[in-house]
Amino acid sequence: MKSLAKHWRPLGENRVECELCPHHCKLKEGQFGICGVRKNEGGKLVTFTYGTLISAAVDPIEKKPLYHFLPGHLTFTIATPGCNFRCLGCQNWEISQVPPKTADKTPFFLETYVPPSAIVKKALESGSKSISFSYTEPTIYFEYMYEIAKLAKGEGLKTVVVSNAFISESALEELLEVIDAFSYDLKFFSDSAYRKYAGGKLEPVLDTIKKTFQAGKWVEITTLLVPKYLDYKQLEDIAFWIKDELAPWVPWHVSRFFPYYKAQELPPTPLEMVEFAVGVGKKAGLYYVYAGNIPHTDWENTYCPSCGKLLIERFGFSLLQYNLKEGGYCPYCGRKIEGVFQ
Ligand code: SF4
Repeated sequence: MKSLAKHWRPLGENRVECELCPHHCKLKEGQFGICGVRKNEGGKLVTFTYGTLISAAVDPIEKKPLYHFLPGHLTFTIATPGCNFRCLGCQNWEISQVPPKTADKTPFFLETYVPPSAIVKKALESGSKSISFSYTEPTIYFEYMYEIAKLAKGEGLKTVVVSNAFISESALEELLEVIDAFSYDLKFFSDSAYRKYAGGKLEPVLDTIKKTFQAGKWVEITTLLVPKYLDYKQLEDIAFWIKDELAPWVPWHVSRFFPYYKAQELPPTPLEMVEFAVGVGKKAGLYYVYAGNIPHTDWENTYCPSCGKLLIERFGFSLLQYNLKEGGYCPYCGRKIEGVFQ
């Protein structure tokens, strides 16, 4: 559904500047932004994806991935189309890389409308403890996400954002009012790699992650190990940045890459690179380093950083063992494990 957007300003002569993400698109009358879902119409910025659901499913929270936020619970997950990045290897490119709407051709999904109250109702009926905004880039359906999250909180549901962290400061501040947990991608530690692979920039991503963490929200970081664009030096920089700028207890997920979309010429991540990433995370002093897309390795499990005992054993997105005491305490040494466990 088309509706008036938030976070923009008029520039005069019917031009507008979108202030939702660091692209800061300056749009003439009739122009769409880089995300393809926000447009200048008559000197006002409108969004075309308010309530235009393109995906909805009940997922384990481990799929986001969030390993320290109510482990083992279900989360009702939604998306509307579009993204402000252009990742060459996007796994969800069919729903994230939508072409801009044109006057004579309206993609089918833009005709649908699902009100925020219906999403909250469905989430409650599904037995989920939270609503997650994921699959595409939630930043660019900001208005819809915000309304759903506000209603969800009133019903006792938690809220989760899975994002590229490419959002403006003003929009982030508003979002922090209604979101409990964030699973952020930190794709590279090189501005040039961000630009070439994703059409993004490094600094705004780092700023967003840091501000979210400083606001006291639960944050976990994921790095997809994309060969050729991500090198060993960047992995080291990311691990030390998490430890020094956030905290050693912030979970870091390193995930094996497989070629999709426009990255068919890239190989899957070599296992040595996954091993190096896990090792460098531990060497940097991070307590919780996890490897994804390699089911059934020891790298999926949570161990107590004090006594080293197994606390949560995972197999893919399932929990095989959950040994934490109520409130998230190690049953062996009594250490409080960082996270949200109740
Ligand atoms: S949200 Fe879309 S229109 Fe707004 S600045 Fe970002 S890419 Fe441009």
